[in-house]
Amino acid sequence: MLGYTSITNYHQQLAEGIITCTQVVNQYILQIRSQKHLNAFTTIFEEEALERAFQLDLQITNGEALLPLHGVVVAIKDVLCYKGHAVTAASNILQNFKSIYNATAVQRLLDGGAIIIGNCNCDEFAMGSTNENSAYGPVLNALDNIRVPGGSSGGSAVAVQAGLCMVSLGSDTGGSVRQPADFCGIVGLKPTYGRISRYGLIAYASSFDQIGIFGNNVQDVAKVLEVIAGADEMDSTCSNLGVKQYTGKPQENEKYRFAYLIPTIELPGLDTEIKQHIECLFEKLRAGGHTVVGIPFPLLDHIVPAYYVLTTAEASSNLGRFDGVRFGYQTPNVKVPLTEFYKTNRNEGFGKEVKRRIMLGSFVLSAGFYDAYFTKAQQVRRLIFEQTEAIFSNFDAILMPVSPTTAFKLGEKMGNPVAMYLADIYTVFANLAGLPAMAIPMFKHSNGMPFGIQVVSNRFEEVSLHLIAERLSTTLKLRQGI
Ligand code: GLN
Repeated sequence: MLGYTSITNYHQQLAEGIITCTQVVNQYILQIRSQKHLNAFTTIFEEEALERAFQLDLQITNGEALLPLHGVVVAIKDVLCYKGHAVTAASNILQNFKSIYNATAVQRLLDGGAIIIGNCNCDEFAMGSTNENSAYGPVLNALDNIRVPGGSSGGSAVAVQAGLCMVSLGSDTGGSVRQPADFCGIVGLKPTYGRISRYGLIAYASSFDQIGIFGNNVQDVAKVLEVIAGADEMDSTCSNLGVKQYTGKPQENEKYRFAYLIPTIELPGLDTEIKQHIECLFEKLRAGGHTVVGIPFPLLDHIVPAYYVLTTAEASSNLGRFDGVRFGYQTPNVKVPLTEFYKTNRNEGFGKEVKRRIMLGSFVLSAGFYDAYFTKAQQVRRLIFEQTEAIFSNFDAILMPVSPTTAFKLGEKMGNPVAMYLADIYTVFANLAGLPAMAIPMFKHSNGMPFGIQVVSNRFEEVSLHLIAERLSTTLKLRQGI
């Protein structure tokens, strides 16, 4: 039996012949079945995963070297194309749709030796913060089944949290990897915009979307990033910058310069326990010789509105392609006239939140409102970009909470979309500015739920992001009782 701790440890066990990929896949299949109530998966690829495990075992018996992700059991959010497999974005409108090609990230996972075990549940078209907007129903937080796992990549987070896979992929447009990682007590990375190709990722808001990684530890996440990041001719927004080694070990004596944005800590909605723990962390970091400096940031109040104006505008355009004509859900009810056919397909195929965002996005783009909303939001985005550039000329990273609270109770925020949107205040910042950011679990709230800290680095500074994260989650945490 494998007691999973890390990819490195697993690879040692594979190399020593203590376990096989087949045994491990069988173990995960049993675990997935026993945790079915969590509703983390939309499809499981049992037979195929076992077949792949068999082939990967054969390579080991033949004396071939281990691939970087040899036999690593991965789950993918149901917005990533995996050729010949269902991809639904947790929406009725993509009922019965199968991918006709592999997303670049998926192809690289496969080339790297990973075993894809299944598709994970999520909010419909990645729109949400609780995983309650899914055509498959909500996902439950494995630590407390009356709470949400966060969203939109809730299924991917719970798959790692509940030991249903080793690592998983999600997508992060405004926090959908970091916030569920925080709610579930695991590590979640959103890389720099353009670090991982978006080819084969179903688009929500293309200038924000980025594939992200969930893992039990920083090193696992770094390993996966090394495999899936990098230039791709199929995505012109994907950077040509070389992929570096993200799995390095931090220098014990290195002192970091941390900034925090003052209003993020003074936010009235920030849970007092979270605030106390984060302030205490800052003190401990200072005591350890690091610099932690508060920076004024008057733009904070504008970032959630700017995010929702821009992302809904992009979504209203991206989701225009789902009309039920060439693929996806087709109504049995209306065939003519054609406009009625489109309308009915979309009305029956999309859920409530997706419709709300398409309407909001169409509104902010409409003549007469475009300048008041869309142009203004773009200006806010530009200002955030410039101000963060200035911060990074003096600091290594920005520290902030991931979410103002721990995991909500199921249904708690569903009746109040604005309250739900406002809870994204700490995560949308990195997407607006295109910065890499990681959620690291650190603390336990008196309500029993985990929460952590978010580290945000400068663009394409994933190496230092990982080193800082590794330092925070291991050395500092242990040594200083953080
Ligand atoms: N919660 C945010 C939203 O609802 C983030 C979504 C995401 O990152 N995909 O838009």
